[in-house]
Amino acid sequence: MPGRDYLAIPGPSVMPDAVLSAMHRAAPNIYEGALVDMAATLGPDLRRVARTQGHVAMYIGNGHAAWEAALSNVVASGDTVLVPATGRFGHGWADTAQGLGVQTEILDFGKKDPFDLARVEEALAADTAHRIKAVLAVHVDTSTSVRNDIAGLRAALDRTGHPALLMADCIASLGCDVFEMDAWGVDVMVTGSQKGLMVPPGMCFVFFNDKAASVRAGMAQVSRYWDWTPRANPEQFFQYWNGTAPTQHLYGLRAALDMLMAEGMEAVWKRHDTLARAIWAACDVWAEGGALSLNVADPDNRSRAVTSLRLDQGRATALRRWTEGQISLTLGIGLGMAEPGDPKRDDFFRLGHMGHLNGNMVMGMLGGIEAGLRSLDVPIGDNALGAAAQVIAG
Ligand SMILES: *Cc1c(COP(=O)(O)O)cnc(C)c1O
Repeated sequence: MPGRDYLAIPGPSVMPDAVLSAMHRAAPNIYEGALVDMAATLGPDLRRVARTQGHVAMYIGNGHAAWEAALSNVVASGDTVLVPATGRFGHGWADTAQGLGVQTEILDFGKKDPFDLARVEEALAADTAHRIKAVLAVHVDTSTSVRNDIAGLRAALDRTGHPALLMADCIASLGCDVFEMDAWGVDVMVTGSQKGLMVPPGMCFVFFNDKAASVRAGMAQVSRYWDWTPRANPEQFFQYWNGTAPTQHLYGLRAALDMLMAEGMEAVWKRHDTLARAIWAACDVWAEGGALSLNVADPDNRSRAVTSLRLDQGRATALRRWTEGQISLTLGIGLGMAEPGDPKRDDFFRLGHMGHLNGNMVMGMLGGIEAGLRSLDVPIGDNALGAAAQVIAG
């Protein structure tokens, strides 16, 4: 189809041309020279994105790899972790822990609401023997688009005097939703390259503070590949990759970090906030017709990176097919909202609005969705695009 395709799924996200062209180069020397020098500049800027003075370890791998990498450094078979879950990704991280022989205590808060901090605090207070070694908290659950209060979890840990590590999954949220690793008291944070960081899938990152480093130091053994200790030392470029570095990804990441640094994290967060609110304003008008609804009722509990929606009578799948087939706009499938085989699975879809995104792209996406809704004869309110434009107009 002529014109540009638009992939509006919650990861991989749209890649900037600057990232793509930075990656388009011949294979570099991995032992010394330009690549090794450039790679040393990545850590400080990654820490600026995560708002931490702590350490960062880089890996070749996707978000699932980041989950396992982080866990492998601080928990062992037989240990226990607490996992408050607000969608599929909380359960996914718990599943990774189970694969390592770790016991998981899961608090399931359903698919529409954030963590109930009082219940988490109760579970921590009940653990007087301090069996729980870590709390695994997904900041933004990409299936439900629920955004959780990570600073509130830290407060709950502190009120109960519980020593467990606070571990956050910011794979969807980093570089989109406000996140302050040090100010919020997060001990370990994991993220991936392909969402807010605007780089292809294939790299992941584990950030950790000195408290987490001391837990790592006390481990009887840690898998050689996942051990974060050598990886957090940029002087040992070759050792920390445990082999060949992800050469092209590193150049892409450098270009993406240049863009984030030039814009500034406050401005990046503000842009995502404005664009998310424009999307919700349009959704609220469409919802007046009674067929479409936003999954998370309270905007305070919604991510600025992804929005999960319901469109009844299986029309979510029909809408996705229409926008992709007719106007090259690809919307995200529903994830974790209904079991396989349940016809309700066709009632859910998601919009990714993370990373390399501006007002004209969002207005185009919303216009494309409106065209699809009209084509499917979905009842909708009037002037959804006007409502979105008003938010962008300020
Ligand atoms: C995308 C995502 C993951 C999984 O990342 P993969 O790269 O697909 O393995 C985990 N957690 C969250 C919150 C995500 O958004």
